[in-house]
Amino acid sequence: LTDRLEDVFRKIRGQARLTEENVQTALREVRLALLEADVNFKVVKDFVERVRERAVGQDVLKSLNPGQQVVKIVHEELIEILGGQATDLDLSGSPAVIMVVGLQGSGKTTTCAKLALKLRREFKRKPYLVPADVYRPAAIDQLHKLASQLDIEAYPSTPDQNPVDICAAALAEAKRTGHDVVLLDTAGRLHIDEALMDELAAIKAGCAPGEILFVADAMTGQDAVTVAAAFNERLDITGVVLTKMDGDARGGAALSVRQVTGKPIKLVGTGEKVSDLELFYPDRAASRILGMGDILTLIEKAQTDVDAEEAAEMERKLRKAQFTLEDFRTQMRRIKKLGSLEGLLKLIPGMSQVRKQLGDVQMPEKEMARVEAIINSMTKAERDNPKLINTSRRERIAKGSGVTVLEVSQLLKNFTQMQKMMQRMMGGKGMPSMPKMPP
Ligand code: GDP
Ligand code: MG
Repeated sequence: LTDRLEDVFRKIRGQARLTEENVQTALREVRLALLEADVNFKVVKDFVERVRERAVGQDVLKSLNPGQQVVKIVHEELIEILGGQATDLDLSGSPAVIMVVGLQGSGKTTTCAKLALKLRREFKRKPYLVPADVYRPAAIDQLHKLASQLDIEAYPSTPDQNPVDICAAALAEAKRTGHDVVLLDTAGRLHIDEALMDELAAIKAGCAPGEILFVADAMTGQDAVTVAAAFNERLDITGVVLTKMDGDARGGAALSVRQVTGKPIKLVGTGEKVSDLELFYPDRAASRILGMGDILTLIEKAQTDVDAEEAAEMERKLRKAQFTLEDFRTQMRRIKKLGSLEGLLKLIPGMSQVRKQLGDVQMPEKEMARVEAIINSMTKAERDNPKLINTSRRERIAKGSGVTVLEVSQLLKNFTQMQKMMQRMMGGKGMPSMPKMPP
């Protein structure tokens, strides 16, 4: 979706003046782009109509920068269609009850674990996980395993119990043990089925959940929309979780699900790891769709993962020219922790364009792994003082890390250059009193 829209808006941006004809052409492209991204036909039609009305209603011809104006309108309408303001989770009630529903394989169990972790980490809650899928033999085990991995308590359900009873008993247990939020991981089927809906309705009646989150697999596109509508009709869901947004889902489901159910998207699953769950921000998502990048998400990600004190320490070292290969490796590992570089690049405005121009080149992750292997093969003394690394040491390091001596030399050369460059930068900005380095 992003690439296609980017092309459209690049064309508009290039125009000095926008005629009504241009608006028509642009909107036709927008329409195609949205349909191609698997947005529901009706949703696209309404969307384009609203943008046209607003664009024509405003005096675009006299506007100084009409291209920007259209982009702005599309952006605003996208935010609107995605739900306007971000919607908080309802965590009222003691304990708060969150019921997670959806088809089999959509990601319910994974989402329960991810959400429990998020609630503990970011909301300082004490979550309790409840496996209530008694039909698939491994389903209870799966959640118990995740729970013990995360060191989060889970109700000891067994497959011979009734799911409605499990949930009621688990709720009582959570109260007794002082947990303040309960996550009910319910069963799913391959298709919507009445018996299951009855069971879910009974659980809802018994536990009065403040949140009923419908989990939709973004990869299923239009199907997700139909299924969401059915669950919503029967259970009156309170929100949607879109999973597998990290795959090549075309993103259109997000727009349609929201529009068709009228219920907000609250969370997005972005990977298989337990930390891969993000709160959904309509404005950021709209920007991302338009290829403006998602700087806020990037900043937030960096903030949670990088320790402020550590960062200050790094800067101190940089200033004092004590930045070693060891520090370099630490920084590299930190970048890796932020997620894939490829993923990070997507968050930076304009980068998708750059990536397209680069074509199918390898992203530098392999390169980073190689560099790390080389540094790993050095001794601590060598990492602290690369000048020690003479020819025989280079040979040893090359052998140890499975690269050529030339590659080791290249890394050392690059590192020295980088060190010099950082010195110049820090010296120029932060330390005016520092004597100039000889050229
Ligand atoms: P359930 O049947 O609804 O409980 O689905 P599961 O939680 O067992 O998930 C089914 C599969 O989808 C598992 O292999 C998960 O690892 C995977 N999965 C869930 N959420 C995500 C996500 O956000 N991204 C990716 N890539 N995979 C996911
Ligand atoms: Mg499951």
